[in-house]
Parts: sequence; C-alpha cells; structure tokens
Amino acid sequence: ELVRPNIRALRPYSTARDEYAGGECAGSAVQTWLDANENPFENGINRYPDPHQRRLKRQIAALKGIGEERIFLGNGSDEAIDLAYRIFCVPGRDNAVSISPTYGMYRVAADTNDVELREVPLGEGFSLPVEALLAAADERTKLLWLCSPNNPTGNAFPEGEIERLLAGFDGMVVLDEAYIDFADGPGFLPRLAEFPNLIVLQTCSKAWGMAGLRLGLAFASEPVAELFARVKYPYNINTLAQEAASERLAWDIAGQTALIRSERAAVAEALAGAACIERVYPSEANFLLVRTPDPDRLYDTLIGAGIIVRNRSRIPGCAGCLRITVGTPGENARLIETVKNFRP
Ligand code: PLP
Repeated sequence: ELVRPNIRALRPYSTARDEYAGGECAGSAVQTWLDANENPFENGINRYPDPHQRRLKRQIAALKGIGEERIFLGNGSDEAIDLAYRIFCVPGRDNAVSISPTYGMYRVAADTNDVELREVPLGEGFSLPVEALLAAADERTKLLWLCSPNNPTGNAFPEGEIERLLAGFDGMVVLDEAYIDFADGPGFLPRLAEFPNLIVLQTCSKAWGMAGLRLGLAFASEPVAELFARVKYPYNINTLAQEAASERLAWDIAGQTALIRSERAAVAEALAGAACIERVYPSEANFLLVRTPDPDRLYDTLIGAGIIVRNRSRIPGCAGCLRITVGTPGENARLIETVKNFRP
C-alpha cells in the first residue's frame, strides 16, 4: 500500500553472473567472461562491479551487527534520499514532512521528484516539534525526514521523542544518521528490528573519510531494503568504491573520531570566547553552528584569509549563523585566530 504502484511488480536487476558466479568475478569457477561486452585486454576495472556488492555488504553486516538483507548501499546517501521518494511517493500526489532547518537534499530530491515537502520549524533551542510534525502529516504523507544529529544545527534529538514519531506516523520515517559517529548516543541502528517503518541512513563520507568515493548506507526491514534494490541503477557502486571501502571499514575509526570530537570541544570553547561570536550551539556532529552579528562580513573575512565555511545566515531558523566544519588542529588554529581578530 505504501509503495508506489509502478514499483510493486519490479524485481532487482540480475544477470547470469549472479547465477553462475555469485556476482563476484574474482575467485569464480567461470574463467571466460563473454557476457557483458567488456574490454578483455584489461584486468580488474574492465569488469562491471558486483551489482549487489555482496562482499562489502557482508563486511558491513558484521561490523554493524545487522543482517545483509537489511542493507542497501547507495552512491552516497544522497542516492538513498532520492530513491526513497521514487519508491514511496507518487509524483504530484503524495507528500513528505521534514524539520527545518535541516539537510538540503530532502528538499532538492522532493522538488526533482515532484513531491510536496512540508517543512516544520524546529522548536525553541532547536528542539524536535513532535506534535507539529505529526499534525503536518495526512493520508498522503509517505515519508518523514529526520536528521539526528541534525545538519546544520548540530544537535541530536532525544531517543524517546524519535520513538514517539515512529509510533505516531503511518508512513516511513527516514532517520539520517550521517553524523552519528560524532554523537554521544548509539543512534537507532541497534534498535532497527523494533521498527518496521524505520529507515536509518548512514554514510562513509564523514567519520569514515570517504566522501570522494561516494558510499552511503541505508538500513531497513528486509522488504524495504529490497525495494531500494529494485529501483537503483544496477552498477551504482563502482569497483574502486567497493574495494576501497572494504579496506577502510576494517580500520579502527574510533581514534580519529575521538580526535575530531576533542578538536570540536576546543574550537567551541575558543570561538565562544571571541568578541564577534554571540553563540556557539552545542554539537554532536563534526561541525559547529555559530551566531554572529555580521555573518556576511565574518564570512568574507574568513574567505580573505583562505578559509571557507558555510554561510547559513539566510536559511530560515539560522539568522546570523555560520556552519564551521571541525578541521585539523592547524586549520582550527588559523580559523580561531582569524575569528578572534575580526571586529564587527
Ligand atoms: N545526510 C546529511 C545529514 C548530510 O549532512 C550529508 C552531507 O553533508 C549527507 C547526508 C550526504 O552524504 P553522502 O556523501 O553519503 O551523499
């Protein structure tokens, strides 16, 4: 019922390679690959990638403690955001609900899919407007977007409030945990099995340091994960991304995440002491939102010093705000010095 009618009869893409070689060319009994019009004179990347990313999914399943059948891998989590609209929303008819301000792709993908997105402002102190979000939904609302820790505000929402949304909403709740590795709590992945209407998004672009490779993760019930497999392009994760992610996921990221968290605390404290900064908002992500009386001039001054941050001062709910990513200790020191020397 929840799924778009044209998606209901589709099946995931599959070829003879799936049947005879488990989708993985390396190590297979098949030696002669004459089925996919590839160039035979090269070795490795001449072959199409495994469309089901079996090896990588096995590794992610082991790492996260989630069954492989519950995992979808996207060309960045941005792909999963777009596909969620394509799976659940009939263009021009269905709608989605999100908080505001939040990550911009929920809006971009809504517009390109011709889906109405109803944005509900965050409450005082960037709190989650649970009742208003539920009130904004109607029988045509298929998706509810929630980003926690939220971009650009940086705060994570209390687990109990997210649970109330999951219990009170009939459609799918997409919980974007792109920044969960920098947060204090574990997020909802460990509790995925409790909520059939929950999709958790994570990404290799932040803590895992692979933004350039484009690898996003979606976790859901098995039937919902299968819906993503039906609508994706067959070879959405290229060979380099699959191979490199396999290597990278075996590393221990805890040390690097801890470093970023401690740099975040140091930068927050230093910026809070700068004359031009009115407020540094609490953050559980790898960035800080700061409010300043003259955001445009501070932004230009930083650019003049060769430092680029994100000017969020014109988006609703973020008047006066710049979003600053936590950098290396050297980058952070340059940022702090420039901000401290700025006179409004
Ligand atoms: N979700 C949030 C909340 C983000 O802030 C971002 C990127 O900034 C993304 C998703 C995109 O991630 P990916 O690089 O996996 O497409």
